[in-house]
Amino acid sequence: MTWKTQLPAVRGKLLFDEPLGPFTWFRVGGPAEVLFLPADPDDLRDFLLALPPEVPVQALGVGSNVIIRDGGVEGVVIRCAGRAFGEVIVDAEKNWVIAGPAALDAQVARAAAKAGLAGLEFFVGIPGTVGGALTMNAGCYGRETKDILVTAWGYDRTGEMRVWDNADFGFTYRHTDVPPNSMFWVQAVFEGTPDDPEAVTARMAEITERREASQPVREKTGGSTFKNPPGHSSWKLVDEAGWRGKPFSASGKEGGGAMFSPLHSNFLINTGDATAADLEGLGDTVRADVLARTGIQLEWEIKRIGRA
Ligand SMILES: Cc1cc2nc3c(=O)[nH]c(=O)nc-3n(C[C@H](O)[C@H](O)[C@H](O)COP(=O)(O)OP(=O)(O)OC[C@H]3O[C@@H](n4cnc5c(N)ncnc54)[C@H](O)[C@@H]3O)c2cc1C
Repeated sequence: MTWKTQLPAVRGKLLFDEPLGPFTWFRVGGPAEVLFLPADPDDLRDFLLALPPEVPVQALGVGSNVIIRDGGVEGVVIRCAGRAFGEVIVDAEKNWVIAGPAALDAQVARAAAKAGLAGLEFFVGIPGTVGGALTMNAGCYGRETKDILVTAWGYDRTGEMRVWDNADFGFTYRHTDVPPNSMFWVQAVFEGTPDDPEAVTARMAEITERREASQPVREKTGGSTFKNPPGHSSWKLVDEAGWRGKPFSASGKEGGGAMFSPLHSNFLINTGDATAADLEGLGDTVRADVLARTGIQLEWEIKRIGRA
């Protein structure tokens, strides 16, 4: 008998050997041994409480910052989705927007704008969830999740409720000190400052327009591939090394489906038939090339998850 035959009863869904590619922007990768879609936060808690501690657990949002490797993911992947995890509420007295982990960042930005709260506009440009933003300290145009987060709570791997205030996260550029897969978020509180709703909405429209012109937002991609090294832009380093728009295949075959976008050279794209190995292989090849040329080590921003 394996752990898979002894999983706790749930009210949501447990899917076995479920392909994860369709749950990600890149549309690549193998299956989850088990994919758990909890019905609501209590279902999530009860499952974590009862799951044997040796079973690896991996959270997934809308997959806009991950490459799922071709061999799939060991253990249980947990994806919180639907209304029970996606609610967005405004507390007008406190200038707060309170959101579930599956709420899209753009929904949070729009709720803030409607309530006349400034400061959350940048969220409109990030195509991920609140859960992903807390993990990645997502940000753009000089603002980050750390600038607007008050507090967040969720369940740890043992099903115990934990509250993390902003200072506890140890936020730095695209990083937090929360150990990977140690927290499964249930709610986050963001704070804005009062402003005219129309002015906030206009700033959001500017951000959307700017991004559509400069990023391959309709491609199979994962956002910025590499973090910007101090004092450098990753797109420039990739570009100068000649990798913009150059097809790549991990097996060396001509014209593979992985490429750094012709529009934005820090965006890795799947032009059609790439595998996770092609995408990760291209990223690592470019890292080695840039290191050899410049002495600068590019660090992955995209999370690579699972078995090769
Ligand atoms: C076109 C495009 C543009 C982008 N632009 C930006 C940008 O400007 N700035 C920026 O910062 N990012 C950007 N990204 C990257 C991405 O959108 C963000 O990192 C986003 O925060 C990821 O959210 P997600 O829900 O997709 O998380 P996923 O990609 O699914 O997961 C990312 C990480 O978050 C964890 N996670 C997700 N949900 C939960 C949860 N509920 N509980 C615990 N952990 C969780 C996962 O385990 C994983 O480690 C862009 C991506 C794309 C495709």
